[in-house]
Amino acid sequence: VRLFNGGDKLNIIYNSWNNEDDGVPMYSCLTCTACTNACPQLVDYDSYVDIRRSLIVGAPQAEIPHTALQAVLAAEAEAEADDQFLSVEELEIDSNVGYYPGCVDYLDQEMVFSHLNEGSMNLGDTTNAAFTLFEEMNQEVTYLGRDFLKCCGHDQKWQGLTEVFEKLKSYNQKKLEASGIDTLVSSCAECFRTFARDYELDGIKVMHTTEYLTENGFKPDLKAEHEVTVTYHDPCRLGRQMGIYEEPRDLLGDVEGVKLVEMEHHGEDAMCCGVSSMMSCNENARSLRVARMEEIRDTGADMMITSCPKCVSHFECLKFEGDEKYDIEILDVVSFLAKQVEASKSKAKEAVSPSIQSEEVSA
Ligand code: SF4
Ligand code: SF4
Ligand code: SF4
Repeated sequence: VRLFNGGDKLNIIYNSWNNEDDGVPMYSCLTCTACTNACPQLVDYDSYVDIRRSLIVGAPQAEIPHTALQAVLAAEAEAEADDQFLSVEELEIDSNVGYYPGCVDYLDQEMVFSHLNEGSMNLGDTTNAAFTLFEEMNQEVTYLGRDFLKCCGHDQKWQGLTEVFEKLKSYNQKKLEASGIDTLVSSCAECFRTFARDYELDGIKVMHTTEYLTENGFKPDLKAEHEVTVTYHDPCRLGRQMGIYEEPRDLLGDVEGVKLVEMEHHGEDAMCCGVSSMMSCNENARSLRVARMEEIRDTGADMMITSCPKCVSHFECLKFEGDEKYDIEILDVVSFLAKQVEASKSKAKEAVSPSIQSEEVSA
């Protein structure tokens, strides 16, 4: 409300409190938690919207931009799909820590399929990047991929498809409990929030990758290849909904040569990227992204870092329109850190190889 307190925008709240589910206000809300954050009475508006949506029978009355992807994920929820997934016995689980990648590979495919991405966006990179960092820390982590677990159900839950969400949740919960892990890590802000707040996982601690890295003392001696100024976008699922603001910033601050500058709206006041739960992607959503891009430009940063592959996808989408003004590099923090690790490794190799060569020559 504090951010969008003009004119008809307040209709979203007014109409929904009046139970006027005419489709538009109820599905326009991004459940970005800005309302709750601004409300002196801490009214949990997101939960209100969630409950109201779950009471509406039938498909969500909202623009759903990726219908093929949504259909694939919904089909996964059915029991008939169970045998497409590896059983606990079939997967070698050799660690008490599991990593869940989210639907990044599905999103990559969908973006190519829908002609949004012509090859420059690679959300799946967050998975490889996370394992580069775990390796650097000497931490054994088991990959609990999408051939083992189903979609977490975040989008289905917030689209009001409660039945689909409950099926996905029930399958994944049983699988996770049988896996024997005690920590579940994910780099996707939406998956992280869903497992942490919307599942009941007895004896399993759910952590965002940035939290896992900082709590386990990830402090490699990293130096950026070139001095770089970055700004950071707080995903609403990670920031306002889960209170993780400092961990990604601390990780960035630990890299020598990285200067962090803040956007006008950051931390608790950060603006959403404009799309949540892969729905209601419309002109309003686009204008939020444009406003955010303008804030990035105002900082003078070379790059924008965030902590959610889905945020990356929506920002990249604006870039695909081709306006040079918005040709700003956007990276997930995990990918950014892994790049620094790889760069410092190859530098170390370069430093070693001339001495090896000279030893070989003298021999
Ligand atoms: S989109 Fe955010 S600010 Fe707007 S009504 Fe929903 S929670 Fe409130
Ligand atoms: S995509 Fe990112 S900013 Fe947008 S709703 Fe999801 S977490 Fe929030
Ligand atoms: S902004 Fe996001 S939801 Fe909308 S078309 Fe682009 S990638 Fe899809």
